[in-house]
Amino acid sequence: MSPTSEMSHESALKPVLSKFSQRRTWSSDQPISFLMQQGVENPNCISLAAGLVDPVTLPVETVQSAVDELLGGTSAREALQYGTTQGNERLRRQIVALLSQLEQRPLREFSESLDNLILTTGSQQLLSLVCEVLFDPGDICLVAAPTYFVFLGTLAGVGARAVSIESDEHGMNIDALEAELARIEQAGDLSRVKLIYTVDYYDNPAGTTLSLERRQALLDAARRWSRGHRILILEDAAYRELRYDGPELPSIWGMDDSREYVILAQTFSKSFSPGIRVGYGVVPRELVSPICDRKGNEDFGSSHFTQQVLAAVIESGRYADHVSRLRQQYRKKRDAMVAAAEKYFSDIPETRWIKPNGGLYVWLAAPPQIDTSFSGPLFPRAVQEGVMYVPGDFCFTGPHAARPRQYMRLSFGVQDESGIDEGMRRLSVAVRSLL
Ligand code: PMP
Repeated sequence: MSPTSEMSHESALKPVLSKFSQRRTWSSDQPISFLMQQGVENPNCISLAAGLVDPVTLPVETVQSAVDELLGGTSAREALQYGTTQGNERLRRQIVALLSQLEQRPLREFSESLDNLILTTGSQQLLSLVCEVLFDPGDICLVAAPTYFVFLGTLAGVGARAVSIESDEHGMNIDALEAELARIEQAGDLSRVKLIYTVDYYDNPAGTTLSLERRQALLDAARRWSRGHRILILEDAAYRELRYDGPELPSIWGMDDSREYVILAQTFSKSFSPGIRVGYGVVPRELVSPICDRKGNEDFGSSHFTQQVLAAVIESGRYADHVSRLRQQYRKKRDAMVAAAEKYFSDIPETRWIKPNGGLYVWLAAPPQIDTSFSGPLFPRAVQEGVMYVPGDFCFTGPHAARPRQYMRLSFGVQDESGIDEGMRRLSVAVRSLL
């Protein structure tokens, strides 16, 4: 072999790096990976971090019999075939009926919803598709402070700017929202505001529910500030069906008779099974094609099989039974967590929490001098005591150094009542050791 051919052989083997898109650099590592790694490395830790549903509640027998029925029946081959991008019509019809019950209004008022309903792979895919079709880099989404941290990652992934609006025990403060919109208008940026995101039922992470008055005020604000273009509300109602007490509130989507301003995102992940991966959005008419076109590029339809399993489960009445059982089970666990907060934290000055009316989370404010972030002293101390939580700083926007650091998101999803009590005890020991 001549020296030149050897050299060219070597240079051909020299490793070269792939050249990633700009979008790749916008999709940052989610904190969840670190938490999962901590969970693996510390198997005896009680995790109050994981936002998962309780494994003992998962509907194994119900799914088993629905699958048997489906595969034993005449539509077995159809179930294993491709479906449509928008999703199975039988399931969409059932969801429309479910929505009419949740809104407590007659089915006939929702006749148009069937065509505006898109089934997705979990509601996360719907959130992502909405971001894809609405945002150019630099566009603005208004979010509550705190908000669902995964959605902040989704916004970052398309280069959108998340702007925080202060919130309290009744959810996003709508006066503060209006003030922010006025500020943005002053800065000449109103044309970049595309979306207002709210987790308005039993918020992840704050546990709060947007009050009826604020729902109306939010809808009015979106309408009033829609000048050159429509500012949409993305109503993420992932936990809506996990209601333990408090009023059954109408959705903002249901309150908007025009059906033009609100995207309603819901999911069967919390109320049935996350492994089924069925979520959905009911969207303003003008968004149906853009979202389906985009979804077509990704998968031309979510799992047709699990959609039909779910349709069979709902049709048999077993879904409704499951949800009511689930509510009773989680209500007890919610009570266990609030009771444990009372028992172990009530004598720690400046510690606060809100009892959520549903969902899976209690948002705990530690004394202000406590830094709950991964880089602060509490997290490793808590792991040492054998408990884990989600640091609250992930749920805020802006530079890390400027974010509030005294909060923790605690979940009563996975642990049983004694695990919740013990986890809260350990956490209080860790907090006290730093005071
Ligand atoms: N929204 C919120 C507020 C959530 O907490 C979650 C799940 N953690 C989702 C959306 C997405 O869930 P899925 O994709 O399973 O429907």
